[in-house]
Amino acid sequence: MCGIVAYNGSIAAQEPILHGLERLEYRGYDSAGVAIQKDGKLQVERAKGRLHALVERLSDGPMEGTVGIGHTRWATHGEPNVANAHPQVSNDGNFALVHNGIIENFQTLKNALISEGYSFQSDTDTEVAVNLIQKYYDGNLKEAVARATGDIRGTYAFAALSAHEPDTLVVARMDSPLILGVSEDGVFAASDVAALLDYTKKVIYLEDGDLVTIGAQGYTIENQGEVVEREVVDVPWDATQATKEGYDHFMIKEIHEQPKALRDSLIRKVSGGTVDLSDSSYTREEILAFDRIYMSACGTAFHAAEVGKRALEDALGREVQAEVASELRYYMPFITEKSLVIVISQSGETGDTLAVVKEAQKRGAQVLAVTNVVGSSIDRASDKVIHCDAGPEISVASTKAYSTQLLSLFLLALDFGEKVGRYSPEEVRARVKELSEIPDTIEKMLEKTIPEVDAIAEKISKKDSIFYLGRGLDYLSAKEGALKLKEISYIHANALPSGELKHGTIALIEEGLPVVTIITQSELVEKSISNVKEVKARGAHTIVLTNDEAPEVDSVADDKILIPKTSDLYAPLISVLPQQLLAYKTSVLLGNDVDKPRNLAKSVTVE
Ligand code: GLU
Repeated sequence: MCGIVAYNGSIAAQEPILHGLERLEYRGYDSAGVAIQKDGKLQVERAKGRLHALVERLSDGPMEGTVGIGHTRWATHGEPNVANAHPQVSNDGNFALVHNGIIENFQTLKNALISEGYSFQSDTDTEVAVNLIQKYYDGNLKEAVARATGDIRGTYAFAALSAHEPDTLVVARMDSPLILGVSEDGVFAASDVAALLDYTKKVIYLEDGDLVTIGAQGYTIENQGEVVEREVVDVPWDATQATKEGYDHFMIKEIHEQPKALRDSLIRKVSGGTVDLSDSSYTREEILAFDRIYMSACGTAFHAAEVGKRALEDALGREVQAEVASELRYYMPFITEKSLVIVISQSGETGDTLAVVKEAQKRGAQVLAVTNVVGSSIDRASDKVIHCDAGPEISVASTKAYSTQLLSLFLLALDFGEKVGRYSPEEVRARVKELSEIPDTIEKMLEKTIPEVDAIAEKISKKDSIFYLGRGLDYLSAKEGALKLKEISYIHANALPSGELKHGTIALIEEGLPVVTIITQSELVEKSISNVKEVKARGAHTIVLTNDEAPEVDSVADDKILIPKTSDLYAPLISVLPQQLLAYKTSVLLGNDVDKPRNLAKSVTVE
């Protein structure tokens, strides 16, 4: 969601800024812009739509200058158009600002500025901020930004330029991601590391309240008026991991990367044949002392949370709650200083999930995060962290992050289960062995499944609605399959517990409507087959994804995808893959922008 890239250094700024914005495209955006400082003049260019529209506007000749800011916007205040694109410029034309986040009190501030004679060209909250900077400017850009942020309530990552200070770039952060990158050629600021990997791997993760002055000679970080030192960290990812490497889309590359991602994740969490989460987990006494355990996340990560809840319930023999973060953040009356809250976020920047972390900590609860991004806000804010080790996930539709989240939660459950004495060490070893074999299993399955899935995608791409059914863990997997299809094919998809269908939704089943049913849970096979029969009898096109070779399945399935068998609990790790492929292929057939689906953003940092 929204990308910021800013640079101050010795080389021309336009190229690294545009390149960085391109690398951030995956986060989702609707317009883009850049401002570069040259001899005390601000050059600004903005365009609606994709980055190439901006690049076209710059094609008459690059902007000269070595200090600049760039932005890809994901509109929150005002429609996506050129006037609302960033950089936003102050009334006197001497200040330019890019912003990620939401200024909650912008209307009050705007009214006050209007009464002081300021006028507004956009509908954005950001234009209020840049005019506040103009208002407070008294010969020092950093001071003006500090005073402006003092008036602002809300979330922001800011990068500001002023025509009055040709060599200075000022950036600030509050609840929106922002990092610095340090290279021999200068200092960068960006929303995430993907923007910087081609220039530097040395980054600083800024903290809330940080205000940074970046000069030609270096940078100074202040927080609440005090100069602070922040650690420079080496990022473990390399630039090739953030390229398509011959695949048509990041999504299909990332689907294929799942065996490797799972192996990488296992290597770091398993040692001597058993789970070793070191200090990412809790002691037996701590686990037994938790009064309640909650799991919370958004979107795909929430689907991982729901599976994780089942795994933990099995491991602990007690109830575990799973709540979407956008709800839990405002309603957690039962979370106390004795509770454990497990949050899951690919980016580690998901706004609602971060709010849960902070709210839970306010109540004194312990927070354990499962995240893919080392150094992200959730990573740093949480008490304990399990890293997914999936490598950078660029496609908006999450695939390898989901499977490594599942794996991480399964391993956490094994660790907890053994500590509280519900699983014997032998049982844990046996389950770890089973999990360790899954990467090979899915590698083989991918080869076999792709042509089968492609044929089904041909059929469903012509439909405008589809249902997904499953019982137990199959229902949870079906929810993820339906979400994947919605996100990138834009076909209406609805997941239901199979047994719930007849309580209303079956009214929608009609001739030729595709219904995907997942059947992997050994106890529930017969029941699930009956539900497939119900929809088949009403003319549905039945697609069954199963690990059961029973002939009864063949008799009810118009199309069948046979997947390898695992223990029931781990089946979602397998059954999700053909569903990811189905969504991918359908999206390709429909000619959609697979990696950057409409209206969506990769890391949803706003509410
Ligand atoms: N709230 C700002 C706007 O709507 C920033 C949105 C963003 O984060 O891209 O322009």
